[in-house]
Amino acid sequence: MVDEGSDLDRLAAQLDAVEAAMARLDAGTYGTCEQCGEPLTSSALEADVTASRCASCAQTRNDG
Ligand SMILES: [Zn+2]
Repeated sequence: MVDEGSDLDRLAAQLDAVEAAMARLDAGTYGTCEQCGEPLTSSALEADVTASRCASCAQTRNDG
């Protein structure tokens, strides 16, 4: 079984992601990968409008 936390936690995480995306819009960096600087594809942004990393960087994330 998978315990992913409450819906509220998920909503809070989404809100964080949206606020981060809006900050990138302000900074003029929205739509580019924050890791490698490559422009994100429109399909990637359609799949997730708050995406901040390109597909290859998202796959190789190293949290912690
Ligand atoms: Zn990237």
